Amino acid sequence: MEDSSFRQFSEEDIRPNRFHNDHQKILLKDIDMLLSRKNEFVECKCPACDMDDNEIQFLKKGFNYRRCRRCHTIYINPRPSKDVLKWFYHNSKNYEFWNNVVFPASEESRHKNIILPRVVKTIELCKKYKTNNNSLLEIGAGFGTYCAEMQSRGIFQRVIAIEPTPDLASTCRKRKIETIESAIEEVKPSSDFMFDVVVNFEVIEHVFSPREFLSHVYEILNPGGLLIFSCPNGNGFDVRTLKMESDTVDHEHLNYFNPYSIGILLNSCGFKVLEVFTPGRLDADLVRKKIISGEFKLENDDELLKYILIKEWDILGAAFQQFLIRNSLSSNMWAVAQKDR
Ligand SMILES: [Zn+2]
Repeated sequence: MEDSSFRQFSEEDIRPNRFHNDHQKILLKDIDMLLSRKNEFVECKCPACDMDDNEIQFLKKGFNYRRCRRCHTIYINPRPSKDVLKWFYHNSKNYEFWNNVVFPASEESRHKNIILPRVVKTIELCKKYKTNNNSLLEIGAGFGTYCAEMQSRGIFQRVIAIEPTPDLASTCRKRKIETIESAIEEVKPSSDFMFDVVVNFEVIEHVFSPREFLSHVYEILNPGGLLIFSCPNGNGFDVRTLKMESDTVDHEHLNYFNPYSIGILLNSCGFKVLEVFTPGRLDADLVRKKIISGEFKLENDDELLKYILIKEWDILGAAFQQFLIRNSLSSNMWAVAQKDR
């Protein structure tokens, strides 16, 4: 799912519908490409609590999604190995498409509806937890919109982007952002590669080993430094209701944490968890659209959901989404964690 936090907007604003068919074709090609190396997929334990006690949750397009019985994290297992993932993201037609077509076409709306609220929220959290403002690193900087906006605010002396996908890294550099074209795990900590704040948005669900990823982030944070990130909530309304029909559930998303399990993982990597919240605004609307289009059918005993999402939508829709947000049940989650001072 897109990071739908904080502002009301429609899916059309950030993923224009006219690209839908082309995008679907490209995604299918990507899936075929990834599955062509299925014999190199590897078994893993729960990415949050490291237990090996899980049950099958669903099968979708050739991938097995399992659910940890202990912490309820959903995860693809077996999953593409690190080498396969690196190869996949270097050759993915999806990313080329986003860089060349979707991002440029929706830049203004994405800036207003997604990036600006992210920047504002980051600054608010940094003030709240009194971080130093020498350096901020964004992992997975994509089109560079967040870093460019953050740089323009002049709050941090250095704003640095890490982006492993060549096309996207090139875009970041064109926007005059200090860019490292690499995966974070491949960058060695050094005295000029330490940060007061590290952010990443919709990244951790893609990585082979979230534990290794977060441990690495811990290493490059200054004492008292803040980690802020967002990712899907596997216990959120969208995923829980639509299950495998949810667009959040796809081949690129290997890890679906929840507010409880992300805390377990962060603690085990040395972090103190400051906040976990689910500000996503699209759940009710996404489920409603799938019902209306016929892609998803409510069971007969789902009278209440039919009442809220269809019959009385104009009256109850927004209030229902607010209920999800307040009770950690939206499918987009933010976590804020700190390294000891
Ligand atoms: Zn677990």
